Amino acid sequence: MDKDLKNKTLIELQDLTLQLGQKKYLAKYIFSFIHEKNADDISKISSLGKDFRNQLSQQGYYISQLKTVKTFKDPDGTVKFLFELADKKRIETVLLFDGKRRTLCVSTQVGCAMNCSFCATAKLKLDRNLTAAEIADQVNAVCKQRYKITNIVFMGMGEPLQNYDNLIRSIEILNHPAGKNIGIRHLTVSTCGIVPQITKLANEQTNPILAISLNAPDNDIRNKIMPVNKKYPLEKLFKVLENYQYKTKQRITFEYVLIKSLNDAPKDAQRLAKKLKNFRCNVNLIEYNPHPGCKLKASDTETIETFAQYLRKAGIETTIRLKKGQKIKAACGQLGAGWLKGKQKP
Ligand code: SF4
Repeated sequence: MDKDLKNKTLIELQDLTLQLGQKKYLAKYIFSFIHEKNADDISKISSLGKDFRNQLSQQGYYISQLKTVKTFKDPDGTVKFLFELADKKRIETVLLFDGKRRTLCVSTQVGCAMNCSFCATAKLKLDRNLTAAEIADQVNAVCKQRYKITNIVFMGMGEPLQNYDNLIRSIEILNHPAGKNIGIRHLTVSTCGIVPQITKLANEQTNPILAISLNAPDNDIRNKIMPVNKKYPLEKLFKVLENYQYKTKQRITFEYVLIKSLNDAPKDAQRLAKKLKNFRCNVNLIEYNPHPGCKLKASDTETIETFAQYLRKAGIETTIRLKKGQKIKAACGQLGAGWLKGKQKP
């Protein structure tokens, strides 16, 4: 039985308090202490009463916490956190600043199995899924360092929809008013396109914003850089996305990493615009960020601008995502890149 109180939703904590012969309302104190006040020690939940706190500790309940190994600061303001988990495995989390918006890019797995060729995390392979506590605790750990977070993107290391149950549990925890209270429209799940899980997500009671790592206007190009496309080609992906949009009434974000001479020609922009014409969506164009052992090259600025203009002319809202955190290897596709040389941990 899972004894980590940080891993439990409020409803589960209510069941637990009742099972332990305590009043149900005490669960809310536990939940708030952990997720609003960032407490990591049962003895500090003063509103519980000493006997109940002792009872929890004696029965082996505990509150897990990530260890911050190192914090890296880029001159552009981006901050990257290197966290160590209880089993000594490591993950990275990135805080991005954009006006008043403070977006935390959290990891959902140690490594990743999806093998996208433009991504450093892929080279680490999948080690394991993070628990919901480990996902949510990236937010707590950053808040403890006195940063205020307005938005969360599940876009760090790992494919969130491959760790579905823990992702949903962490969303429930982060979204709850008694905890961090981060609105569902401020939570974005980014996926490479795991079709059945997108259908499942559409059927959840609350639906986060969906971002699709698309990166190609057709199956031929996508197959070259994203193995997932062989299993879930664009026709299948777009079908479930239409359903997601129909059910949630939300805009969908499409991410598109521009890679020199691969997916960055004007005709690619035109074909992309045609593919996306039935969606209420926006496209984020991302400059490819190099990492060791990958031969792909970034498109030049002029090519990116031209690509954006084609999309805008076709009526698609398009943003060019500025390179952020590149100096500290915190930019898109770079997480874990610092560990690749000789596969050393930093
Ligand atoms: S881009 Fe995302 S899904 Fe693809 S390998 Fe990297 S972390 Fe995994």
